[in-house]
Amino acid sequence: MGLLSEGTPLSWSETQKHSEHVRQHGIRQFISLYYRLKDRTKDSLKWGDEVEYQLVRLTKSAASSSDQQQQQQSQFASQLSLVADQILPELQREEIENGGRASTLWRPEYAAYMVEGVPGEPYGHLLAHLNLVEANMRKRRAQVQSLLGSDVYALTLTAFPRLGCPDFCYPGAKPTPEGGVSCSAFLPDEVIYSGHPRFRTLTRNIRERRGKKVAINIPVYRDLNTPDGLLEPPTEHTAAALPGHIYMDAMGFGMGCCCLQMTFQACSITEAYLLYDQLTPLSPVLLALSAASPVHRGWLADTDTRWRVISGAVDCRTDEEMGLKPLERNRFRIAKSRYDSIDSYLSADGQAYNDIPLTMDEDILRQLMEAGVEPSLSRHLAHLFIRDPVSLFSEKIHQSDTEESDHFENIQSTNWQSMRFKPPPTNSTIGWRVEFRCAEVQLTDFENAAYVVFIVLLTRVLLTLQIDLLMPISKVDENFNRAQQRDAVKRQKFFFRSGAHLYDNDPELVKAELREFTLDEIVNGCQDFPGLVPLIRQYLSMSHTDVDTMCTLNQYLNLIQKRARGELLTTAAWIRKFVTEHPVYQRDSRCTEAISSDLMAKCVEITQGSYRPDELLPCTSSKTSDTLPQVISDAELYLDNRPRRNGPK
Ligand code: ADP
Ligand code: MG
Ligand code: MG
Repeated sequence: MGLLSEGTPLSWSETQKHSEHVRQHGIRQFISLYYRLKDRTKDSLKWGDEVEYQLVRLTKSAASSSDQQQQQQSQFASQLSLVADQILPELQREEIENGGRASTLWRPEYAAYMVEGVPGEPYGHLLAHLNLVEANMRKRRAQVQSLLGSDVYALTLTAFPRLGCPDFCYPGAKPTPEGGVSCSAFLPDEVIYSGHPRFRTLTRNIRERRGKKVAINIPVYRDLNTPDGLLEPPTEHTAAALPGHIYMDAMGFGMGCCCLQMTFQACSITEAYLLYDQLTPLSPVLLALSAASPVHRGWLADTDTRWRVISGAVDCRTDEEMGLKPLERNRFRIAKSRYDSIDSYLSADGQAYNDIPLTMDEDILRQLMEAGVEPSLSRHLAHLFIRDPVSLFSEKIHQSDTEESDHFENIQSTNWQSMRFKPPPTNSTIGWRVEFRCAEVQLTDFENAAYVVFIVLLTRVLLTLQIDLLMPISKVDENFNRAQQRDAVKRQKFFFRSGAHLYDNDPELVKAELREFTLDEIVNGCQDFPGLVPLIRQYLSMSHTDVDTMCTLNQYLNLIQKRARGELLTTAAWIRKFVTEHPVYQRDSRCTEAISSDLMAKCVEITQGSYRPDELLPCTSSKTSDTLPQVISDAELYLDNRPRRNGPK
């Protein structure tokens, strides 16, 4: 969700005037907190997930049987329900009444049809904590659901298939391509959450900074009857549409997608560098395994993830910055959108793998280096700080460099990258954290818990078994491209270290020996690589916990293994199959209102557990619990870096 400062938002021309001010004070704020907190150690492992929900209205359709198009219609109609502002105060009531303490916490998200829920408190270092995740997710879903009308459902859907199609939202609203915030030909401004000014301000300022509305073009999936050329008749408001591509023109197409994120607190800044770096090569793997969004604006895409959509949706670069015009008014050529994969590793060992050029604000770099901030972190920040602030509140312009951090957070929280390195907030007991941001959200709490637990266990494997997954960052980027492709799990190979070099720290050797593996090989293992799940099982075999937790972990790992093997479909593959096998599908790549509504009806059943497609989900369920086991024996194993046979008394 990012920083939610209160106040009066400034226009882009006003914000732009304060751009240098925000950067200069932002970096001083960082230097001040770095000095206070860099040597902070002994923070314990804490972690938590973030789940985003879409509110989908599903009604019995009113079509009469005499309707000529009966054959083409569904018995349902589905729309996005713009009610987040109505339910959020109720969702947040417990937190507000109890001074911040509640079993679940709720935040607004970009769209008026979205909410975000996180556990009331971060989880800790016990393996048994992993068994609480799904129960808490269920509780969250039940909470949202209880506040919705009988025909609205909280779905953990990455992308609503007909976002931006006629009548996709309720109450209805019309796009305003001639003016307003988005100026979209498809998305009315009413879909932007209006309870906080951040979201509209970001939308307008990104568009104005860029000098025109955003243009997202995603290759369409080519079927027998897919139209050639432009997918729709051109209008003056769709001039940036490319032939053979699904064209979208607003921030909401990306930021209106949902995802699944995890944050980890490390025991020190050095361990945070390590986690940030080691999780980086895993991010494309998780993107491919969690792929869940093959349909955009009513068309089947040739990609399976939201990544390119959201990257384009907040791309505020000007033509000069994109390299389309000579640099005159702007300072830099910039290779990527503000929303994209990371560009550099932070740990000392990572430096040899930083092989893509890093555009940096040299003045900021100099200040950081002169202040003694670690060179790799200095470069990382000098890179983030090439961006302008795109949301600023008049009350927040003048800030203390030592007591506040809003200017720093302003730039930091609008660099939406695959990983985020999070310094401790000022005036808190929170330590150095790392956020894993690329996973797509799955339909069921079971799956979301499984993906979260998979990543948490991988962090333990990384720290305990001390394997090294680093590879040139250019190869991570290449893996990112591949991860987004249709059926990446089955059809792509990914660069990865071979097993022989898992403990190697000679970068030259590793670069020379990098191999391409299928996701099955990476997750389940093969001759050249032990496999991520077998490594996790090795870690678990050194650990003890209660039987229920162990049983749940096995169920989760089985899901991940089967998805990687292709024995179970990814959510994206299942959705694509549902669309292309639907009786009214015309092999024209269109996900019509009828198909989409039938799909939403199925998603509701899957979410509620009344329907379980064998090809998507295993037939087992977990032993998740909303409380820790009563008796935790001495042998209870700590999730901490190193397993201890005898836990502290
Ligand atoms: P964001 O930066 O995305 O706005 P938040 O800071 O609100 O995220 O929290 C995201 C996640 O971090 C939540 O799951 C929360 O439980 C978890 N979290 C909160 N405190 C800590 C902590 N000290 N260490 C690790 N994770 C934490
Ligand atoms: Mg969010
Ligand atoms: Mg987050």
